[in-house]
Amino acid sequence: MDEKTTGYCVKCKVNGREMKDVEKVEIKPGRPAAKGKCAVCGTGMYKILPKAAATVAA
Ligand SMILES: [Zn+2]
Repeated sequence: MDEKTTGYCVKCKVNGREMKDVEKVEIKPGRPAAKGKCAVCGTGMYKILPKAAATVAA
């Protein structure tokens, strides 16, 4: 996965923060999310992915 995943870091209070160690997870069936860490402070971050992303991933 070369594409960078970004999300909101609650600690830095910055949206569009780059996530590292990104993993795709499912919080509920059919509800994909990306789990990772803030590239700056290391705080755990989640990003809910649109359903379309699940279709692409499958
Ligand atoms: Zn952060």
